[in-house]
Amino acid sequence: MSEKKIPYKIYLEENEMPKQWYNLRADMKNKPAPLLNPGTLQPMAAEELAPVFCEELIKQELDDTTPYFDIPQEIQNFYKMYRPSPLVRAYCLEEKLQTPAKIYYKFEGNNTSGSHKLNSAIAQAYYAKKQGLKGVTTETGAGQWGTALSMACSYFDLDCKVYMVKVSYEQKPFRREVMRTYGASVTPSPSMDTAIGRKILEKHPGTTGSLGCAISEAVEVATTSEGYRYVLGSVLNQVLLHQSVIGLETKAALDKYGIEADIIIGCAGGGSNLGGLIAPFMRDKIKGEKDYRIIAVEPASCPSLTRGKYAYDFCDTGMVCPLAKMYTLGSDYIPAPNHAGGLRYHGMSSTLSQLYDDGLMEAVSVKQTDVFAAAEEFARIEGILPAPESSHAIKVAIDEALKCKETGEEKTIVFGLTGTGYFDMVAYEKFHDGVMENYIPTDEEIAASLAKLPKAE
Ligand SMILES: *Cc1c(COP(=O)(O)O)cnc(C)c1O
Repeated sequence: MSEKKIPYKIYLEENEMPKQWYNLRADMKNKPAPLLNPGTLQPMAAEELAPVFCEELIKQELDDTTPYFDIPQEIQNFYKMYRPSPLVRAYCLEEKLQTPAKIYYKFEGNNTSGSHKLNSAIAQAYYAKKQGLKGVTTETGAGQWGTALSMACSYFDLDCKVYMVKVSYEQKPFRREVMRTYGASVTPSPSMDTAIGRKILEKHPGTTGSLGCAISEAVEVATTSEGYRYVLGSVLNQVLLHQSVIGLETKAALDKYGIEADIIIGCAGGGSNLGGLIAPFMRDKIKGEKDYRIIAVEPASCPSLTRGKYAYDFCDTGMVCPLAKMYTLGSDYIPAPNHAGGLRYHGMSSTLSQLYDDGLMEAVSVKQTDVFAAAEEFARIEGILPAPESSHAIKVAIDEALKCKETGEEKTIVFGLTGTGYFDMVAYEKFHDGVMENYIPTDEEIAASLAKLPKAE
């Protein structure tokens, strides 16, 4: 084993950087279930997806046998602007907690979008450009994905139309202006611009929106505008593929210093950062080479893994998208205006859903006020002001470190610190003023939404 002194922050050298993304599906024994056509209930063929998605991305989406995909040089060049992201040892936090555990976090907030979303945005914009498209449409919840995509589109000179969940549009005017700085147009969703938006507003007047609604609107605009396709920042297999860069860098950094992780923790909205972070570790686990505890953390207000059902469901509220088999709360589920905007999605990536169903991964849900308490503790001791989404992982990393304190175990904990929270100050304000609510859906509410699941096996 190497005797190298482990730096406080581990960066990779250029020759150590990943040159390929890793497709975990290639090594999964039980493959994630295919997307189904909502009309015929048959697996979606590439031709059927072509009006909605970019060609090359469809290939990536449907490929569950190719383990590695080359990262195009143009994307590697863009990655150079903000990658590698550091793997940081949280010494101060360990000290404060008086834990024998070693805590590391992979920090993805060092770019203007403030999150890991840029890793996939730049890839998706690249393939859209390569196909000769004019532009792309998308939805954004908290705003990180929209910001990341705006940056990527301006880099490749593509038009970018963003449908932003209304509650975030109102709470985060500065996010909107960042997107407009990069040249994107931003519309609050549901809007009156689309047929589906008008329908949703009629059914739920005054709704604060949801990712599911915004997806429906963005898809409608993409399929009715010439030279446009729709892109999505989470959930899809292709996004997990691009995000594998997080896990590959993390693993390379750990291996470089002979560090063995015991527990890997990530927040889970649609599952992209977690899917990316765990990919190479899960590979070892599936192959029986290593064992890790892998923990997905979700908000108690939107608990798809811990309280949802593993079933085929629509990816969007408007029911225009293909059906995906996933842990879901039902596509009709509109979460309470919770501040963890990026975690307000009713379903979970089908890859992570399958891994969870196979018992290869654990899941826990955490209450919002506990998340903000952890966020504040982390900010005060480690300096970084974390995004509320990321703070779900912080909360559970702290819990696990405190368990080590009780048992005296020197476990190595690695968690994904997906982004910064500068645009989440309204939520932090509510927490500081003691008016933050812990909304937890009742069993009846979840059952009512699940009763509307499509019938498909
Ligand atoms: C979008 C987002 C998430 C959640 O999305 P996943 O696809 O589950 O990774 C988490 N953290 C931040 C900062 C985000 O922007």
